[in-house]
Amino acid sequence: MPSLTRDEAVARAALITVDAVEVDLDLDRGAEVFGSRTVLRFTSADAGGSTFVDLRPVELHGVTLNGRALDPAALDDGRLPLDGLAAENVLEVEATMAYGHDGQGLHRSTDPADDEDYVYGHLFLDAAPRVFACFDQPDLKVPYTVHVTTPQHWSVVGNGAAQQVSAGRWELATTQPLATYFVTVCAGPWESVTAEHDGIPLGLHARRSLAGPLREQAEQMFATTRACFDHYHRMFGIRYPFGEYHQVFVPEFNAGAMENPGCVTFRDTYVFRGAATPDQVLERDNTIAHEMAHMWFGDLVTMRWWDDLWLNESFAEYMAYRASTEALGADEAWVEFAVVRKLWGYAAERSPSTHPVAGSPAPDALSALQNFDGISYAKGASVLRQLIAHIGDDAFVAGVSDYLHGHAFGNGELAEFLDAMARAAGRDLDGWAQAWLRTSGADRLALRRDGTLTRRAPADRPADRPHTLDVAAFDGDREVLRAEVVLDGDTAGVGGVRELPAHALVVPNAADLTWAEVALDEETLDGLLGGFSDVPDPLARAVVWTSLLGGMARAEVDPRLVVDLVESAWPREDDASVLTRVPLAATSSVIPLFLRPEEQAEALERVALAADVLADRATATEGPPGDALALVAARVWGRTGSDVERLQRWAAGEGLLPALTDDDDFRWIVLRRLAALGALDDAALARAEEGDRSLAGRLAALGVRAARPTAEAKEWAWSRLADDPDLSNYAALELARGFWVGADTELVRPYVDRVGDLLARMGERMGEDALSRVATALHPKWVVEDATRRASAALLTRRDISPGVTRALLDEDHVLREALASHRRFA
Ligand SMILES: [Zn+2]
Repeated sequence: MPSLTRDEAVARAALITVDAVEVDLDLDRGAEVFGSRTVLRFTSADAGGSTFVDLRPVELHGVTLNGRALDPAALDDGRLPLDGLAAENVLEVEATMAYGHDGQGLHRSTDPADDEDYVYGHLFLDAAPRVFACFDQPDLKVPYTVHVTTPQHWSVVGNGAAQQVSAGRWELATTQPLATYFVTVCAGPWESVTAEHDGIPLGLHARRSLAGPLREQAEQMFATTRACFDHYHRMFGIRYPFGEYHQVFVPEFNAGAMENPGCVTFRDTYVFRGAATPDQVLERDNTIAHEMAHMWFGDLVTMRWWDDLWLNESFAEYMAYRASTEALGADEAWVEFAVVRKLWGYAAERSPSTHPVAGSPAPDALSALQNFDGISYAKGASVLRQLIAHIGDDAFVAGVSDYLHGHAFGNGELAEFLDAMARAAGRDLDGWAQAWLRTSGADRLALRRDGTLTRRAPADRPADRPHTLDVAAFDGDREVLRAEVVLDGDTAGVGGVRELPAHALVVPNAADLTWAEVALDEETLDGLLGGFSDVPDPLARAVVWTSLLGGMARAEVDPRLVVDLVESAWPREDDASVLTRVPLAATSSVIPLFLRPEEQAEALERVALAADVLADRATATEGPPGDALALVAARVWGRTGSDVERLQRWAAGEGLLPALTDDDDFRWIVLRRLAALGALDDAALARAEEGDRSLAGRLAALGVRAARPTAEAKEWAWSRLADDPDLSNYAALELARGFWVGADTELVRPYVDRVGDLLARMGERMGEDALSRVATALHPKWVVEDATRRASAALLTRRDISPGVTRALLDEDHVLREALASHRRFA
């Protein structure tokens, strides 16, 4: 399937200007297909010229150009040629389209809780032609007028304010100019909560079966939304331009959320149906703030071509954390950034797939998707923080406002953004941009106890990156040094380090301002077991964890030290994000990949013991902080404990924390552990499924079934993945995740060589975005053996697996190589 090339986009944009688009969708034709009628009005600079329109229908019923019928049979691989253009043109297209089940296009799914259907549009990155005829490129922005026919009991939310004009018939207000990939329609029997802020109508919507939690959590989400609107209005000096602001929690959504102007879609697990820890609320607030930042950056000003997609994401990522601290008062947000986002970004930087933040070529639309990773988000946002340190915050804010004003309702690109920044800063930024934006790689920073901070750039990617950072030192629970350093060269002296006591823990980049591999010195590494949990600064602790996990991946830090620290320091942790993420790293990476199989059970047991220590601490801590600790302790024990009797009691709802009584998600965590231990029989699983008929329950049950350590269970999961034509993106992901994790190597080894055939087969029916996520989970890296590495290398050369999916496999291949190197080094 051809992906639009940049050259084609440039040529088409030079030829035509789109003036108006009217879309009429009929969603009342059953569960498989919908009607799509489009009227496109556009002018052509070249009378008599030709171009093409993008569409991917099941059936094309009729097309007329300026009243002249075109032959539907001319549609070839998603493109219909348009010849003999007039100066002013009207194109009318009547088609039948298919719903998606992979979270792309117009996704339709049934909620098993009440058999109600829901539909939402996710047209990013190139799925718009699966919904309506269009000129699908980000620089042909145009106002949309959308009409929708639905079953009578449904409601509709979209980019423009929706009005029901008769039973089952909805008209949406004409929008501001939008890029095609931002158009959405969300339809179904939604539960809706509405409010208003500063003249902006607000709406929150979710499936009817989530009505209770949505209503309970609505006020908190509205408060976040209001505070962010005020913050961004103040900061950008431009009012929110898209009318109403709806946030819709939709089923089986691939990403976290999508910034459709006026109608943001979120994965519906953000409506917490069970207990939630503070870091879960923080993450949801951050996602709300991220999507709101896009209303200005991405939506109001859109990148001209996909190669600047990173700028949207780096910017929104940075702005969301800034809004979290400045507008929501969540000072701990940057700790989460360090221990969640940067951990992801540093892994991407270590992989051979790493790339410069900016300027990676995107010769066609789909290739841009391959660079949509931890570099685009976490490194990009870190680089913006370095830019602010470099030019000052006032200049940064002035530059952003200048850029947004200069390109409002249109498009912009990196050079124009940098020009705005350079104007505001009053200095040239070319050298800075070359080092930080156009060269990949992370410098390695190390501090000697004589006070010398050294910087080493990757040998194959030299760059003179200037760093603004700080160095902190801790003696017990006292911070005994905090020094700001500008490292503009390969070394810098840090005052006060030489005088530190030998047992002090020294943390370069303690405030996490820069992007670098931080290598801790020997004295600090030796002192962690004794003193780490006393370090009073949560951000410095997060930087230490990130440094250790990075060092482990590079085979410099023994994974056993990480497990030792999880056991000793983690149960004393206070920060909500570190508290959740460190055991997750232990159970999803450190133990299953970096420890040898014979060491894994004991390590898991030690994490479970640490969870019991945390639970004791929770009991001794009063009020909500104690409740939050108890919740984390229970979840970690539920994933790691091997006391089958206790797990079975918890599964039966006995001996639980009050917050976890009737918490279906927690029950599935416990059932999954029981399944992995081979202690869950068919009857118990059937009872659990009967007790939770929700979509989340259905999905969790698939993962639990796949996790059972029997040859039959593995074969069942594999054949569902291969042969079930109706398998949704989420169902496939659950099966893939359940298949390998914690499994007996003997049982799953026969499948190592079968992954490529399975992915090729799934690629025939699943979109690239969804399948990339499944491929990440399906990669056989869990069998950490040289033979797996050979199978993994073979996966990367297959021609029947698409480039985007291969890219996901390449990153997992690299993780396997890191694990093998660690095994060799620390045998
Ligand atoms: Zn984003």
